[in-house]
Amino acid sequence: MTRFNIKKRDGLARTGTFQAGETMLNLPAAVDCETMFPDLDSRSGTNIPLCAPPALVQHYSLPDKGQPVTIHPHLDNRAQGSDCVMVAGWHTAFQNPRNYVDWLIALKEKTPVDTAWYAPASALPANVHILCYSGFDLFDFKAVDLKTAQGLFCTPEGDFTKEATKSGICTCPGCQENGLKLHNRLALLREIALVTRFIEDSRLRDLVESRCRLDAAQVAILRHLDTRYPFMEQHLPIARSGVMRANSGESLQRAEVRRFAERVTSRYIPPKTDVAVLLPCSAKKPYSLSQSHRKFQQAIAGRAHELIVTSPLGLVPRELECVYPAGHYDVPVTGYWDAEECAVIAGILVRYFRRHAYRRIIAHLEGGALKVARMAADQCGIPLEYSCLEHPTSNAALNALDSTLAGERRIKDDRLHGMVSYQFDVDLDTKGTTLRGHFPELFYSKNNVQVFSIDTGTGLLRPTFDGWNLLPRGYRVYIDDFIPEGDVLVPGVVKADPGIRDGDEVFVVGARAQATGRAALPSEEVLRSRRGVAVHVRKIKRL
Ligand SMILES: [Zn+2]
Repeated sequence: MTRFNIKKRDGLARTGTFQAGETMLNLPAAVDCETMFPDLDSRSGTNIPLCAPPALVQHYSLPDKGQPVTIHPHLDNRAQGSDCVMVAGWHTAFQNPRNYVDWLIALKEKTPVDTAWYAPASALPANVHILCYSGFDLFDFKAVDLKTAQGLFCTPEGDFTKEATKSGICTCPGCQENGLKLHNRLALLREIALVTRFIEDSRLRDLVESRCRLDAAQVAILRHLDTRYPFMEQHLPIARSGVMRANSGESLQRAEVRRFAERVTSRYIPPKTDVAVLLPCSAKKPYSLSQSHRKFQQAIAGRAHELIVTSPLGLVPRELECVYPAGHYDVPVTGYWDAEECAVIAGILVRYFRRHAYRRIIAHLEGGALKVARMAADQCGIPLEYSCLEHPTSNAALNALDSTLAGERRIKDDRLHGMVSYQFDVDLDTKGTTLRGHFPELFYSKNNVQVFSIDTGTGLLRPTFDGWNLLPRGYRVYIDDFIPEGDVLVPGVVKADPGIRDGDEVFVVGARAQATGRAALPSEEVLRSRRGVAVHVRKIKRL
């Protein structure tokens, strides 16, 4: 009997506990596979090459029962929830990053999500980060023991000759007593422990972007995965509460960054005004809390819609400045934007301005952001006005911004409307809503009843029951005829609206109860899983 309880998810990566008979493991883990799966050596059909032609794969006779369950990109799924699945020869996939990603997605899309993934003879201190990032959880010592036999000293940064054992790079018991085998195994366990920390902190992407630099195949795998946007986006949480580090070129293609731009250019509805000011970003988030943005807002005095031009997100409307990742990203600031960055971000601005026409667009920018605004304006054939060309926070620039807006009418500040359109894809009538609280901790009420609050960690709106009544559709999770006690579990869910992502605010609807809460799984996975938490419940109302 096996059982896999997922504790924490970060994209495809997970931590959790895996039970096989008497053995209990905290995943991700590396173990002696002889102890874990004693009869694996003698089972046939468990080692089908990944690159074998589909017709040949069908001819293998596979063991019909027992753990682990062999899965292969060219075979129909044979696994059930809580199984341990094994992809034999996964180390060979590193030789062709495009195949790695094609095979991975083919396997992930057909295999139940609540399965533990075993990659035999694959894990090294230098690649286990990307194996976990790809959704593998269980490893063995075969690959590091082979390195030992070859006289190689393994580190997360790569291999060295065994003389490195005494060089002071590592001071583990293996190195102290000159045992290369022990060092290599400990180095793998240490790296798995580190990867686990990063998953638990929702920051595995940061580690992968950093680690992969020393291996071209790993960089290629990361990039190929990013090009598979619909697949990656579905597995990524809608929000995190920590910092999103956008320190590499790959950050531009990160699915969470692209999802933000997609929603700004499709769902988001700007306020009713025909004057816009393009502003630079600030290091401090949300921008409104920075010195520079206080000055900009003073000069603008509500007479224009404020749009922040920034890398890697593209365009952040003022109302969305708290929402993940707009309120959370950190980038190295040099003032210089490279050609790819300019092209991607100009593309976002073009999509936005083709959808939303303004009578006047005033660029209060400098450097890369100014260049991008000009590129976008040229592509759309719209004229830009300039209130400065450098030093946007200087008095001269701020005065110019103020006077260029002379005679323009003050627009209604409606942060709630913009946020609802972005988060729930709804054009909410906000007439009669009132606001209290101290930015960014805001509460919205209607007829003296609270309808929404802002989660200051993620920047997302949290609707109350009355708030959900204002949102006519979407983000509903339908449950069976029962009253949830605590969280809603997967087996209790009858239906979930498509498009729900891990971390989304959802409304639980049942015959006997309603609940507000936060999705723990994307809707597609709720429907494909057999167990686990579907919704972390905040409040329950009996009907
Ligand atoms: Zn060592």
